[in-house]
Amino acid sequence: MQRDPLRRAVEALRADFPGKSRSWIKRALLRLGDVKEVREDLYVVEGRRELGDWKPLYQVWWSSAEGRWLCTCYYTQFGLKRRRDICTHVAAVMLYRRYKKALEKAERGVVYVAEAVVDCRGRISANGELHVKPAADKIDLTFFASPRFRVLVVSRQRHVAVKCGGYVVYEADGEEVPLAVAKFLVAKFHEGKD
Ligand SMILES: [Zn+2]
Repeated sequence: MQRDPLRRAVEALRADFPGKSRSWIKRALLRLGDVKEVREDLYVVEGRRELGDWKPLYQVWWSSAEGRWLCTCYYTQFGLKRRRDICTHVAAVMLYRRYKKALEKAERGVVYVAEAVVDCRGRISANGELHVKPAADKIDLTFFASPRFRVLVVSRQRHVAVKCGGYVVYEADGEEVPLAVAKFLVAKFHEGKD
């Protein structure tokens, strides 16, 4: 089963900072919607009064000199660094980046593919993208007497079920493949050669 990308991002952040409290993670999560990416190494985070912010905007940027993310809240008006700890603006940016990565991964994702031959006089359906063609090379009287189809199902769910007229006529665990491989299999299926 595919896990929720947001949950995965939160778990990744928690794993990277095991010493941080639940409230630190929670505040990062609350700020997630306030993060705007300017560049890969520069973000703007809107301030929130209820989280103790006193400015409308905070800039968070990657300092290659220090090898860490910095935030404008680390500086006083005199340009002095106030803290060494990781603020939740930075935490929100780190969460945002992990979330983005998790989303991309989920999109690339894996799918489950199953192929079968089914006899069906009714409408064929499946819990996924369904591809159907006659099982025989040529459509003749035999086909009309007992219509038999080859089906290919690409599903997000591992357990693939094919129905004929609402009744399950085939079910199995699909083969887990990357989405690109599934597309290749679909193209091959429609070429008509095995
Ligand atoms: Zn900050």
